[in-house]
Amino acid sequence: NLDIALNFAKNNGRNQIVFYDEIQHEKLELYSQVAFELGRAIEKGGFELFYQPIFNIQTQKMVGAEALIRWDNPFGVNTGEFITIAENTGQIKDIDYWVIDSVFKFIAQHNQIWAHQMMSINLSAQSFNSNEILEYLKKKISFYKINPAQITFEITEYSIISNLEFTKEMVGNLKNMSFNVALDDFGTQYSSLNYLGKLNLDHLKIDKSYTDLITLNPLDKKIVRHIINLASDIGLETVAEGIETDAQLDALKQMGCKMGQGYLLSRPIPAKDIIGLVEAQS
Ligand code: C2E
Ligand code: MG
Ligand code: MG
Ligand code: MG
Repeated sequence: NLDIALNFAKNNGRNQIVFYDEIQHEKLELYSQVAFELGRAIEKGGFELFYQPIFNIQTQKMVGAEALIRWDNPFGVNTGEFITIAENTGQIKDIDYWVIDSVFKFIAQHNQIWAHQMMSINLSAQSFNSNEILEYLKKKISFYKINPAQITFEITEYSIISNLEFTKEMVGNLKNMSFNVALDDFGTQYSSLNYLGKLNLDHLKIDKSYTDLITLNPLDKKIVRHIINLASDIGLETVAEGIETDAQLDALKQMGCKMGQGYLLSRPIPAKDIIGLVEAQS
């Protein structure tokens, strides 16, 4: 556990010398405890998936959902926090594989109801940057007999920058298997337009930080409009994240953004509720 904590400190301190004051020490203590409990949750199945509906904002119809992991833990750490810890300890791969298995099982169990819906799965850089995952996916597709065209893997710019050639290959491999690939959180990191044209992506997810600003800052609104136009010009569908107000929704609609998700439309909800929502729509 000390290794884990030190590793975390190293990453956190970007390989600089970490000053171990009292708070730092307590923080590391907590991180190693969280990592330990995460390990138990991985072994014993302590996670649950919630699903956030994604809508075609032009037609108001629900077109799919994004699977988001939840972990009921005694530390009060939220999803973003424990995912970051798991990325630092390497536990993220086991988590990603559990999510893939669970989502495929969910779709297989509800194949009638889910027939015309999409499903998005977040994939960490570590899982995406290794060929292993392809074998795992092949095995799971044939086991659950699901249609990979219904699945979208969300990767982040962080996955891309380490090795553009490998990323091209991996996106190609996933596409050859009929999966879709989305670029998540676009605009938050490196946002190089250079690789957008080189990767055969399906969707571009516009980060919540842009959605937050489009109704407040005219310049940001222009930038988002251009991102949407650029994306559709090169054959990418846009999905806006974190829509919380009618004004944001209207602005995005008017700018031609195709899809969206956010608390205004629906929060992430448990499996049975999302099934109810799809049934109610059809
Ligand atoms: P993300 O993939 O960008 O997911 C969107 C996040 O925004 C989710 O947070 C979602 O609950 C939240 N969100 C959606 N609409 C709104 C809104 O209108 N307002 C606000 N304030 N938030 C909204 P969540 O579920 O806490 O997940 C955080 C991040 O953790 C995700 O960001 C993703 O990077 C990661 N994550 C979540 N589930 C998984 C998973 O199963 N595997 C992996 N590898 N990462 C995951
Ligand atoms: Mg996502
Ligand atoms: Mg996102
Ligand atoms: Mg995000």
